[in-house]
Parts: sequence; structure tokens; C-alpha cells
Amino acid sequence: MEEPAVVLVVDDVKTNLLIMTKCLKDQYQVWTADNGESCLSAAKRRPDLILLNVVMQNMDGYQVCRQLKADTQTTDIPVIFVIDKDLGDEHKGLELGAVDYITKPLHPAIVQARVSTHIQLKQHRDKLKFMALHDQLTGLYNRHFFAERALQSLSSMMRHDTELSMVMLDLDGFKKLNDFNGHHVGDLVLQAVAKLLQDSFRKEDLVARMGGEEFVILMELGLEEACDKVEQVRSKLQQLKPIGIEVTASFGLVGVSVDNAEFSHLLVLADEAVYKAKADGRNCIVCYQGGNYVTLDNS
Ligand code: GH3
Ligand code: MG
Ligand code: MG
Repeated sequence: MEEPAVVLVVDDVKTNLLIMTKCLKDQYQVWTADNGESCLSAAKRRPDLILLNVVMQNMDGYQVCRQLKADTQTTDIPVIFVIDKDLGDEHKGLELGAVDYITKPLHPAIVQARVSTHIQLKQHRDKLKFMALHDQLTGLYNRHFFAERALQSLSSMMRHDTELSMVMLDLDGFKKLNDFNGHHVGDLVLQAVAKLLQDSFRKEDLVARMGGEEFVILMELGLEEACDKVEQVRSKLQQLKPIGIEVTASFGLVGVSVDNAEFSHLLVLADEAVYKAKADGRNCIVCYQGGNYVTLDNS
């Protein structure tokens, strides 16, 4: 069963927190914060929605909202202001980026209806965002996300002088595999390969499906370690035999350096290395090293 959505309720009057918790607890997981600072720290754990009282001591709701919107970690969490009929300024809250407001005295049906609308919108947005960044068949990141994250990793590498390598792999004879076994079996093979790749690399490494039967991984490793890692993956893939079918791939590996740290250039180098691996008999790794393509010995 899906986890209930999380609503963070913020008010420095305990009875108000109790009233709001009571109206929401049957449908949502409710977190509470009794001041602005606690709200900001709870928001880092990314609730689905924040119900934020305006009038509070020390830091008021408007100040809290401003900080939430200024922080990339919390900026997209929808905020509903809770305002006093006479004291609140609906306009100001909406201008600060809140999605809606509720006026006191609180009516449970209104609180529930507003929260429900905005939770549904948020869930819909999250789903669209997931679809925009992931490949539907394998659940891996897609090319679009990979390109975006690779640019960030490359500039971070230049700033912090860390090591990066990129490997591209293309399954061997996949057209034939489809022709013999059917497209559906081809899809299952792609899913099994994606899982193997995802399980083989660390969380910091970025694994993506570039399209068709082509995958790419950006690793926080220098070229030497990356060679060993990719050789392990090549060998594991050969032994995987998803649905009893032997599957292999040709790999093109590039160490990222100051001279080639441009994403489109790296893709060209990796693609050429894959092309050479195909020409060298497939099921092997070709590594771009010091301006040359070298086929690694896997015997
Ligand atoms: P090579 O060893 O030279 O890479 O040969 P290949 O047959 O793997 O390469 P080719 O580019 O000729 O064929 C790729 C095939 O991948 C053709 C296409 O139908 C298949 N393919 C691409 N995307 C999918 C998909 O999502 N599902 C399935 N089942 N097949 C796909
Ligand atoms: Mg291909
Ligand atoms: Mg292929």
C-alpha cells in the first residue's frame, strides 16, 4: 500500500496544532512544528505540503515562507497559509509563493478540502516530473536527466579536482535477439540489464538509458579503477543469461580530464570507443587513453 502523504502543520499555539492534526490525521501523516525554526528544519525532510500559520512569535509565517522558497531543497513544497480573518493579508502570502490560504476560525471540512486539492496537485506534478526524468521501460534515468546531471558533475569535477569516468555500452546483436524471441522478450532483457547495472554501481554513480539498447554510466572513479569496475560488469552481464538468453555488450570507456571535460565531446569519444569494440569482435571494452583507443584484454 502507498504511504500516506505527509502534511507539516506549523503553529505556536498548541490547541491550533491539535485541531489541525485532528482534521488531517485520518488521511495523512501529520508532522507538527511549534515555531518557524522547527518548521524550516522539518521541511528539509520534504513533507508533501506545509500548513503555515502567519502570526507567530519570533519568526512569523511570512518570514518562514520566504526562507522555504529561497532554499532549493524546500522551494517546491506547497505552502498553505493559515491567517486570522482580521490580521492576515491574503495577497502577501500568495505573492510570497504560497499556493492558497485558509482563514481562521478553522472549519475541518475546509481544511480537509484545501489540503486534499493541493496534495493531489503536488502528487500529479511529482509524477510528471518522474516521467520527464526516467525511462519508462527500465525505470533508469533518461538521456535528458543524464545530460543535465553530467553537466553538474563535470563542473564540480573542475572545481574540486575529483576523478570521473564515463562508460557507454551497447548490447550486442540485439536486433537478432528481438527477431528470434519477440520484442516482449527483448524488453524483459533490457529490464534485466538495467537492474544489473543499477545494482552494480554505487549510488553516487549515475546510470541511465540513452535510448534503444544503449546505456551510459558516469562514475566517480579514475580511469584505472573504472576499467576494473567495467570489466566486472562486462563479465557479470555475460553470466546473467536473463530468461536463459546469453547477452553481451560492447563497452566504450573514457576517463574525464581537463582536456575533454565537455559533455558532447565525451559522448563522441565514448561512442567511437563502442564502435571500435564492435569492430574488435564485441563483448569487450575499448578504453580511450592518451588520445588512443585501447582494447582491454578480458581473457
Ligand atoms: P550491434 O551488435 O552492432 O549493436 O547490433 P544490434 O542488433 O544490437 O544493433 P542494431 O542497432 O542493429 O539494433 C538495435 C535493436 O534494438 C533494434 C531495435 O528494434 C532494438 N530496440 C531498440 N529499443 C528497443 C526496446 O525498447 N525494446 C526492444 N525489445 N527492442 C528495442
Ligand atoms: Mg545501438
Ligand atoms: Mg546493439
